[in-house]
Amino acid sequence: MKQVLIATNNAGKAKDFEALLGPFGVKVLTLNDLEEDIDVEETGTTFEENAILKAETVSRLLQIPVIADDSGLEVDALDGAPGVYSARYAGPAKKDDDNIDKLLSELENVPEANRTARFRCVLAVAGPGIETRTFSGSCEGLILDERRGSNGFGYDPVFYYLEKERTMAQMAPEEKGAISHRGAALAQLKTFLPEWLQG
Ligand code: IMP
Repeated sequence: MKQVLIATNNAGKAKDFEALLGPFGVKVLTLNDLEEDIDVEETGTTFEENAILKAETVSRLLQIPVIADDSGLEVDALDGAPGVYSARYAGPAKKDDDNIDKLLSELENVPEANRTARFRCVLAVAGPGIETRTFSGSCEGLILDERRGSNGFGYDPVFYYLEKERTMAQMAPEEKGAISHRGAALAQLKTFLPEWLQG
């Protein structure tokens, strides 16, 4: 059975990939399934650089196909911040609640019309003997001035999706997957899978 490693410790992300790759007869592994501890420092300045860095480093070490995901939030009024620093915006402890508090305080005097933002996700696919490929997706929204909802993770409680008149934390997982940056990137990756898995 073909194995693909997802370069993440995040069980939520791993589930999304299992749903996508399972029907292709692929066994999905994550960093949690390995005996050794692999921690790739995200030194890139773009989502793309970080996704490629993670996928290629882990694939070179283990000599198997690897998919890596790098994602984050870009807020226009903050010139694109927190961007690649989204997970560690309020410090190395990577606490979602602290990150949201910092974001809300940075946007304190910013009117609704200027609170536009987007989530971005880049997936990189790397493996022995293949050229690395990337797939990306984004999702536009507004940053509220208070939290709403308790689903999801990260900045979901303050990310308002206009068409559904709800935050991402007020959506069920499948509903979020249908409109999210990660869902869009996964949909692109799906079109490439048959070619990749045959190789
Ligand atoms: P990484 O891709 O694991 O480095 O994490 C990116 C960070 O961006 C996460 O820790 C979240 O803070 C934020 N982020 C990425 N995708 C989402 C999402 O779907 N909802 C909420 N926050 C997200």
